[in-house]
Amino acid sequence: MARYTGAVCRQCRREGTKLFLKGDRCYSNKCAMERRAYAPGQHGQGRKKVSEYGTQLRAKQLVRRTYGVLEKQFRLYFKEADRQKGVTGTNLLVMLERRLDNVIYRLGYGQSRAEARQLIRHAHFELNGKKVDIPSIQVRIGDEITVRDKSKKSEKFRLLAENASGKNVPAWLESNPGDMWAKIAAMPTREDIQIPVDEQLIVELYSR
Ligand code: SF4
Repeated sequence: MARYTGAVCRQCRREGTKLFLKGDRCYSNKCAMERRAYAPGQHGQGRKKVSEYGTQLRAKQLVRRTYGVLEKQFRLYFKEADRQKGVTGTNLLVMLERRLDNVIYRLGYGQSRAEARQLIRHAHFELNGKKVDIPSIQVRIGDEITVRDKSKKSEKFRLLAENASGKNVPAWLESNPGDMWAKIAAMPTREDIQIPVDEQLIVELYSR
């Protein structure tokens, strides 16, 4: 699976906002955005004027980087979102939100989407009673997610479940961290997706 392997905090600095890609560190004063809240590189503190294209590009990169999706896959999501009924930008965000790695992160089993993705890759979860190791799977209403029996007994998952119990889960998810069980109660709506972006800019970018 191809993935971004560069410096993670640079992505937040480039977007000018915290993307929360590193778990606990993001909430501490070690966060790069606390210390160097300007774009990385030689000209990071230089020119501020952004073109229309630049604004659209930044909106797309912000969303793509938040969910940790590469450009090629992101374009495929957009194509599918455009094909579906409804508002393309909202469809796009909903599809990204329905990725299994995002759901595991929202449930509190990973400090970041990257950690959630790794837990899935290592096959610690079951989806509707079957082992799952594909982070990009789209969840559907009624899907049940459980931690696999052998993982449940590990110290790591005891701590992860503890962390999950203190987490505010969005309304579209039902969760019982004590049993390491969760269910997709509804589809996420735009209001459930608290990403500070105007998704219409992404639609405009790809419509050029
Ligand atoms: Fe972004 Fe987290 Fe790094 Fe801060 S610590 S810059 S929020 S990834």
